[in-house]
Amino acid sequence: MARGIVLFGAPGAGKGTLADKIKKVFPVVHVSTGDLLRENVRRGTEVGKKAKGFMDQGKLVPDDIVIAMVRERIGKDDARKSGFMLDGFPRTVEQAQALDKVARIDAVLVIDIKKEDLRKRILGRRSCTKCGKIYNIYNERLRPKREGFCDNDGTKLMQRDDDNEDTFEKRWNTYLGQSEHVIDYYSKKAGLVRRLDGTRTMDLSEEELRKALS
Ligand code: ADP
Repeated sequence: MARGIVLFGAPGAGKGTLADKIKKVFPVVHVSTGDLLRENVRRGTEVGKKAKGFMDQGKLVPDDIVIAMVRERIGKDDARKSGFMLDGFPRTVEQAQALDKVARIDAVLVIDIKKEDLRKRILGRRSCTKCGKIYNIYNERLRPKREGFCDNDGTKLMQRDDDNEDTFEKRWNTYLGQSEHVIDYYSKKAGLVRRLDGTRTMDLSEEELRKALS
């Protein structure tokens, strides 16, 4: 049976940063259902055609479609050999149960972050349209030297359209509603859920990471 781990975290909690760190320490195959679905849409596959409408509306793609797609991906040689790291899956208890039938999950990493901290991280984000550097006006370490302008080239900083209060509230509530049930499901299995402090995923040492995944 294929073996792997599951990553959990609200949008913006730092899942990408954590996934990159994990890959450096453990050579697992990173399986992101969001990425897989987008790729299917781009290539115009059957899965992509079925999924597109749901994705455009920000709704979950039906379980049978996503489960079949993940099952196929983690059944491939590379994932069987090196193990996998799931990102964006499972999002429902049905998905978690289906996963248990085809793979063994060794750890579930949950990035803990308070709503207020995440709000500041997302609503404070500014970027330079010229060089792409990302700032945060609420974070001393990430604040630009001159308010509103890039340190590198002096270009005026911009805020992304979807980094607004409304979208933030929606995404947060969706995440809470979905994750609660899935984390509950895994919490019933002793020792599986490991919580990581989302305010410092960037600073997490290799040792801490090994411990969390041991
Ligand atoms: P986000 O963090 O914005 O939800 P993702 O890249 O994880 O972004 O997912 C994009 C879209 O793909 C979701 O809005 C949903 O429609 C679909 N999706 C991804 N993973 C799943 C899943 N496990 N179950 C159902 N739908 C999914």
